Amino acid sequence: MSVIRVALPLPLRQHFDYLLSANQQVQIGCRLRVPFGKRELIGIAWQLDPADHYPLAQLKPVISVIDRQPVISDTLRQLLTFAAEYYHHPLGEVLTAALPALLREGKNLADYQQHAWQLTPAGAKASPADFKRSARQLEVWQALQQGPVPALELQASHPRTTVKQLADKNLIEQHLLPLTPYHQRGLKQPALQLTADQALAVTAINQAAERFQSLLLEGVTGSGKTEVYLQAIAPLLDAGKQVLVIVPEIGLTPQTLARFQSRFQAPVLCWHSNLTDTERLNCWQQTQAGSTAIVIGTRSALFLPFARLSLIIIDEEHDQSLKQQDGFRYHARDLAIKRAAIEQCPILLGSATPSLESLYNCQQQRFVHLSLQNRAGGQAMPRYQLVDLKQQVLQFGLASQTLQYIRQQLQQGMQVMLFLNRRGFAPALSCQECGWLTECHRCDAFTTYHKQSRQLVCHHCGAIKAVPRQCKECGSARLAPVGQGTEQLEENLQQLFPDVAITRLDRDTTRRKGALASALDSINQSGPRLILGTQMLAKGHHFPYVTLVVIVDVDGALYSSDFRAPEQLGQLLTQVAGRAGRGSNPGTVLLQTHYPEHVLLQDIIQNGYAAFARSALLERQHTRLPPYQHLALFRAEALQSNLCQQWLTELAAMAKTLPGLELLGPLSSPMEKRAGKFRWQLQLYSAQRPQLHQALATLLQAIQQWPLSRQLKWQLDVDPIDLS
Ligand code: ADP
Ligand code: ZN
Ligand code: ZN
Repeated sequence: MSVIRVALPLPLRQHFDYLLSANQQVQIGCRLRVPFGKRELIGIAWQLDPADHYPLAQLKPVISVIDRQPVISDTLRQLLTFAAEYYHHPLGEVLTAALPALLREGKNLADYQQHAWQLTPAGAKASPADFKRSARQLEVWQALQQGPVPALELQASHPRTTVKQLADKNLIEQHLLPLTPYHQRGLKQPALQLTADQALAVTAINQAAERFQSLLLEGVTGSGKTEVYLQAIAPLLDAGKQVLVIVPEIGLTPQTLARFQSRFQAPVLCWHSNLTDTERLNCWQQTQAGSTAIVIGTRSALFLPFARLSLIIIDEEHDQSLKQQDGFRYHARDLAIKRAAIEQCPILLGSATPSLESLYNCQQQRFVHLSLQNRAGGQAMPRYQLVDLKQQVLQFGLASQTLQYIRQQLQQGMQVMLFLNRRGFAPALSCQECGWLTECHRCDAFTTYHKQSRQLVCHHCGAIKAVPRQCKECGSARLAPVGQGTEQLEENLQQLFPDVAITRLDRDTTRRKGALASALDSINQSGPRLILGTQMLAKGHHFPYVTLVVIVDVDGALYSSDFRAPEQLGQLLTQVAGRAGRGSNPGTVLLQTHYPEHVLLQDIIQNGYAAFARSALLERQHTRLPPYQHLALFRAEALQSNLCQQWLTELAAMAKTLPGLELLGPLSSPMEKRAGKFRWQLQLYSAQRPQLHQALATLLQAIQQWPLSRQLKWQLDVDPIDLS
């Protein structure tokens, strides 16, 4: 008999030990079936004979061993263990975030066969003329010209229905894809001639091969970071190695996936939340078998079981969506760095607007700093111009000077992009008689008026209501929208420029599958066009015909209490501005503001992000904020405000007795009431990470004993990004 410690998918901060009989052979990393109360659970063999196991008499025997070979490698187990400890999160929930559902459910992996598509003899004889009526079918047929393509890869970039149509015509067929390492078959498209800066970066990355090294590629928008990634990867694929590319939101940047797939013959898979359970498992298996060369994925791709990982790339490393915002609140960049350390491979972080954390790590010489200071094609960087809104008559929120610029660019056949970070028609409806505003009954927030769907929607809790006919206060029927959202701006622009095509990009217009892709396609056609949208526009798109970017309203972001607000504004402005002037014509950025003299705006536009960020970092040093101190945040949420306050006050009292901590709070959160609950927080700062972690462990132990902890919802956020 021996004892096996099993990781179970439960939200509990404790160990689970079981008895293993002599005839039960199990390797660490294999799945097991074990009893748990009246249930049976699937767990992962985590540790054999742990020194601190529970008394044998209390242990139950393992029911059965599912796998002969580990599903979780040693390195992955190390990563998950680290993640659970670092974020002080139950290991079971870390597993749930990391492992595909079918694997967690104990499915027999051999039942999930992998397929590849190939041309049938009839398909091989076909010619492009046979696909005159379907460009999509032609694309699929062309993709298969060079040989079979894994189904997972083909379906990542082509609609399933198109694939099926070709199969129905007997032009393509499936065959079983053996799970064996891939063979690089050269490049599909020749590499570009690198600029001198790009070449330096590629050399530096390749010199870091086969050891742990973090590198930051700080390259202005349009400087050709993606080309650097592609060329740094190429020799790795020739050696049969694997590469992981993490992007903030894959759905928003289909162009990135396409660029990788059209460069390499080797299989490129993608990983994101829209895959089916079977597709996820298949991707997991192909990564494990080494039959895929590259995976491009969102956050959780960092947990995939690569057999021969040789480089990790984090694109747009500053992006906030790399941090999980609920449950297991990990930062994909930070955990990916840990993964690279465990795997002994380099990690490359890329951005035009690096996070202050990464710049700090460069200053501390923990990261190698690489930079691309010019645009790859020699285009000039866009020029900023402030438009003072004070004492101006605005037409639909646009100054006459702005309108003049827009008209000019459209007349020259160029595209104009308008950025307004507020979707919907108007941020609220207001009573013309008494000033009453529509607000959410569950949040400290107004409800946004959506004209097309005739709804009032709370963008914080999602509550939806019909548009009222009358004021709740005075009964007047004179209700009117206040302020402007993208839906209204679109309507207004249509009125001002009736003959110009308009594309609106926000969460409402891109909800339908394929809508974003077709919007991006239309933007990539030349000809005058107005493009308007929310921060979706900031996400690394390449808009070659945009020569003018209008930031309709920057003022909302200028006076925020969040210490990260300046950094985030700098990033947003620079990224949005970076869409302009990528083609042969130079770009201009108009910033509409009532505060043209504001130091923050002046700093960003006069000095550029790189200099701005370095002075922002200096300010963080003076104010002793992250990354100069480490921060952890406790949040409490309850139906009664005083419960939160009481619980956090107790927590603060205890934290005060622990060494090396500075406390801020308890404070009510910036939006105190959300989705019907009151929210409070306590911020813990420490100059020493070990001290902070020691303190968190002590606090968590105590919290779990407090009866009050069960009367509210609490959570711990280590290295929080969002302080709301
Ligand atoms: P970034 O990701 O840095 O914003 P991209 O990788 O999208 O920039 O590159 C911007 C544009 O410049 C793309 O159209 C790309 O094809 C082009 N480009 C990149 N590198 C080169 C190069 N060495 N020579 C010519 N064009 C290049
Ligand atoms: Zn009223
Ligand atoms: Zn709400």
